[in-house]
Amino acid sequence: MNGAPAYLRPVLLAALLAATPAAADSTSVSIHAGSTHTVLGLCDIWLPPGYASPDAEYVAGAVSDLSLVLTDRLGPTAERAFELVLVDNRGEFDYWTGRQSPEWIHALAMNHPPRLVLLVSAIATPAARKNLERTLLHELTHAYLHRLVSPSTRRNLPGWFHEGIAVQMSGGMERGMQQTVLYARWLGQLQPLGALTTIRHKTARSSELAYGQSALAVELIVEDHGDAGLRKLLNDLRGGAPFESVFEQSLGVPWPQFADRYQVWMRRRNNLLLALSDPNIIFMLLPLLLVAAYLVTRARGKRRKAEWEQMDKSADKLNNPGGIDTFIE
Ligand SMILES: [Zn+2]
Repeated sequence: MNGAPAYLRPVLLAALLAATPAAADSTSVSIHAGSTHTVLGLCDIWLPPGYASPDAEYVAGAVSDLSLVLTDRLGPTAERAFELVLVDNRGEFDYWTGRQSPEWIHALAMNHPPRLVLLVSAIATPAARKNLERTLLHELTHAYLHRLVSPSTRRNLPGWFHEGIAVQMSGGMERGMQQTVLYARWLGQLQPLGALTTIRHKTARSSELAYGQSALAVELIVEDHGDAGLRKLLNDLRGGAPFESVFEQSLGVPWPQFADRYQVWMRRRNNLLLALSDPNIIFMLLPLLLVAAYLVTRARGKRRKAEWEQMDKSADKLNNPGGIDTFIE
């Protein structure tokens, strides 16, 4: 269907949908809404029915502008035509991605065929658009990497590198992800980089931790080598050599040395302020505060009791200085 002329696609899509059980359950089917040229290649846009022409114009402008953001920051890449499909229901999402994804996955960048699929609820409000742009930029980063590296290197490109750059390019880690990493550090659950070569098909929480750790690995590359170092690494990856050897040649750091430094750096990051800024911190601290208040009150009661006993003894001594019983029977 991807090779078909654009005007034929709705017809072919309708034929395909009629024969596809997953799509037959869908409540609505996305329709072709035009094309736009981007620095990543020509983009065919598909939107859920009911979206107006200003929505299509907005999406076309967003995909074009955000693609430019990527090449401005990371350097140029090859062009290859792709599809951007916005859907409004899970059945349609599974249909376009060709698989059943876990509920927490709501966007996917495919390489074969080149297609970005985003599950959206609305794009009318500024908040919804901001959310869409963040997700779109994340998925466009994957599309960028698909175009940048040769097929042999693409197979060697570790999952953490793909996701780390995508998270960093789309605004960095959100608060929830930062806290997931922080708590994992406290609990000693951080993963070594070598365990993050594949980070899909995990639970929502372990996936969030893997994404966060991936983003921090890219942050460390930029901290050590700057944006220029990251651009150089990306540029050198075009050659097709395995990732780890390109990493060493490009940045001058043996891969095992970087992996070890990452482990130490992750453990040393000071995130106390982040923990204290957690809106849920009061629920975590409340039991501790109650126990502390109980202990303080009990200690104060004991001290007061001791003072009273002391005062009683002093009064006894005053009334009976000789210590002789003066009871009268
Ligand atoms: Zn991703």
